[in-house]
Amino acid sequence: MNAALQITASFKKLHNLGFSYQDLNDGNFFINPESGDVLICDNDNVAPDRQNLGIQGKPKYMAPEVVHATNLPDTYSDRFSLAVILFLLFCKSHPLDGLKDNNRIDPAKNAMNLYCLNPIFIFDPVDKSNRPNPYIHKNALLFWSIYPKHIQDVFIKAFAKEHIQCDGNGREDRVIEKTWLKELTRLHSELAICPFCGEETFFDTQTERAKCINCGKPFDRPAILRLKSGDIILEPERKIYLYQVDDSVDIESESLDEDVGVVIRNKNNPKIWGLRNTGKKTWVKHTPQGKEETIENGKVIPIARGLKISFGSTEGEII
Ligand SMILES: [Zn+2]
Repeated sequence: MNAALQITASFKKLHNLGFSYQDLNDGNFFINPESGDVLICDNDNVAPDRQNLGIQGKPKYMAPEVVHATNLPDTYSDRFSLAVILFLLFCKSHPLDGLKDNNRIDPAKNAMNLYCLNPIFIFDPVDKSNRPNPYIHKNALLFWSIYPKHIQDVFIKAFAKEHIQCDGNGREDRVIEKTWLKELTRLHSELAICPFCGEETFFDTQTERAKCINCGKPFDRPAILRLKSGDIILEPERKIYLYQVDDSVDIESESLDEDVGVVIRNKNNPKIWGLRNTGKKTWVKHTPQGKEETIENGKVIPIARGLKISFGSTEGEII
């Protein structure tokens, strides 16, 4: 998750500066499996947008219109490649490798068909002809189902037929980094610890009960902080970030780690949790009875449903 956020934020920065990466592939990234920290290397391929360095990228990561030589690599083709990288990170399988893959017969023709002339997303909701092969693409089938609908929807949009055509039509409408960052940070805030197996699971906060993705047991929705920008599940060590409580802050490399709050356990009674203000702004706590209290940096609000918190420019409610 961390890796996905960092890669996407890096590309946002690169594109904002007017550059494109051009040769985006999994050999350019070193991902620390523990922390998810990403090191992007092989920067020889970074060029001002629309100036090609003679590098076309690896076929599996190249946008169909670049494989087809309709367009040179640029910001739009980078967005296709980014979606491929994110899908690989999330589903550990290639988004276009499905039943249409018949590599054994004619590898060159097969690659041209899959990644250029007739690319079909393996989970395309309309065209189901390239679904994962249950004997080969087991990861795709296993992982896809664990993600909440809002994440599946953004992948479906990223790989929609009208956005991945080899004649380049529709490429301007590909999913932009800002959208990915919004959905990925939302996903990060939806992680919950399963009370049965202790593993992390995604919890759709619009529902009151969900099944653990690991052990399959259902459990009740934990307390959440409902903000205009989305819901945050309040579990120990979960952070509230500045971009979640301040509309004027964009989600980007610099702001990804800028927290304004963290959920802590009470030292004397670990069953009691609280939300500590770690930011610069003073919060105001509002109780259902109408009482108000200011919460400066370092002070803690007990996690109790019904409390409202003013963060300055926005307000949230614990429910
Ligand atoms: Zn579980």
